[in-house]
Amino acid sequence: MRRNLPRIAAVILTLTLATTAARAWSDHGMATYRVLSALPEVAAAAPVAAEPLADFLRAEEAQIEATLAQTQTWAAGRLEAYPPLPAALRFVADPARSDGARQLAFLRALRVALDARFALYVQPDRWLDVQGSELPVAAVVTPGSGVLDHRFLALQPGEQVAPLAVVASAADEPDYGLDIGIWTDSRTPWGKEMGMGPLPFGNPALVFATQAPMHMGFYHEDRILYLAAPQLRRTYPQLRHHQFAALAQLAFRSGHPYWGWRFTGLALHYLQDLTQPYHATVMPGASTLRMLGISVLAKLGMQRPWDEAIVLLSNRHLAAEAFQSDLIREAARVRRAGAIETALQDVRRDGTLPAWSDDALRTQVSARAHAAAPALNDAVLAALPDRLVLDPGFDYGVHEREVDLLREIGPQGKTPGSRAALEAAIADRMADFGAFTRAAVRAIVGEVRR
Ligand SMILES: [Zn+2]
Repeated sequence: MRRNLPRIAAVILTLTLATTAARAWSDHGMATYRVLSALPEVAAAAPVAAEPLADFLRAEEAQIEATLAQTQTWAAGRLEAYPPLPAALRFVADPARSDGARQLAFLRALRVALDARFALYVQPDRWLDVQGSELPVAAVVTPGSGVLDHRFLALQPGEQVAPLAVVASAADEPDYGLDIGIWTDSRTPWGKEMGMGPLPFGNPALVFATQAPMHMGFYHEDRILYLAAPQLRRTYPQLRHHQFAALAQLAFRSGHPYWGWRFTGLALHYLQDLTQPYHATVMPGASTLRMLGISVLAKLGMQRPWDEAIVLLSNRHLAAEAFQSDLIREAARVRRAGAIETALQDVRRDGTLPAWSDDALRTQVSARAHAAAPALNDAVLAALPDRLVLDPGFDYGVHEREVDLLREIGPQGKTPGSRAALEAAIADRMADFGAFTRAAVRAIVGEVRR
């Protein structure tokens, strides 16, 4: 059995999550607007002047070199299975180079997609009637990320903008292609040079799936599962959070508040993803024994139980996120806060959490999401129509745009009270989303002021 484990693992992981879109909560921006309007450090902060990334990089090149080097030392000492940054990718200050060359060097040292836009924009709050000069989606989002229906308003260099809008907009940004194609088997020009190894799980040919290991964190599975599938340890949302939090503090300290808030928002995205149980658990609702069992069957040629489990996993994951997203959008449309908005702004939870720490994404955020996974999965199964969550012949990912989830679930859910129970389970996750987001912002901003 033990000797077969790695090969079983290969079966598990070329298939696991292959069909899962891995966007986690949609609308990080809209949720973050609600969360941080309850935090005066952001909501009441003075407007800041928008600054092109190239200007920040040029002005603070030497400090950026030091900060990125420290980030690598931190990652090598603290993260499991961390592939060291290839020496050729290190960011080394060079005042003589062009802005374009410097920005490319910065992206390489972060090991993000080299076509990342970092445009100057905000995503307006759907609760407000904000007008402005609309940017085409392609100016903000890279192809393949699947983001199509967001509104982006252009910012001009020097234009004053509220920190709340900067942070909330940036909290959605890592889903715009930043983490696509950074693996040696990725079909991007830069995958090979990043030194990240092959895609840990999922199908390298599905462009959007390649961001998953940066947006999921499997830290709390049974040990036997890591033995069977050691690549499950290769998830790196902690790296991204740490990189952007460190850059945020540098930007604040060196007098670039726009980038202080922008990097803060980018850092928040990764902790917010980990409040999603389907991002902190390999297969919610399935025991380790069952996962190993159906993968052994697949290995023996009996593929069907495995294939069906993967489709159902993906369908439930997408349905839970679509339900949350539809509720948020509906509340904004009718301008009436529901259970989700109340939970996002519930500052009572802030005081119940342990003090924020460097390891919080692993020890607190994902641990609580992992613990909540069975209950959320049960609530999804109980409330949503069988077609969407119990039929392996239906692929939610393919039909997502045709599903009107709020209409299908109806006012009650599949059985009386089941919709309310699902809303309560999602609201509990949203309360963590809110409380941990505020804790991380306080940590980033508080350390700068000290
Ligand atoms: Zn994400």
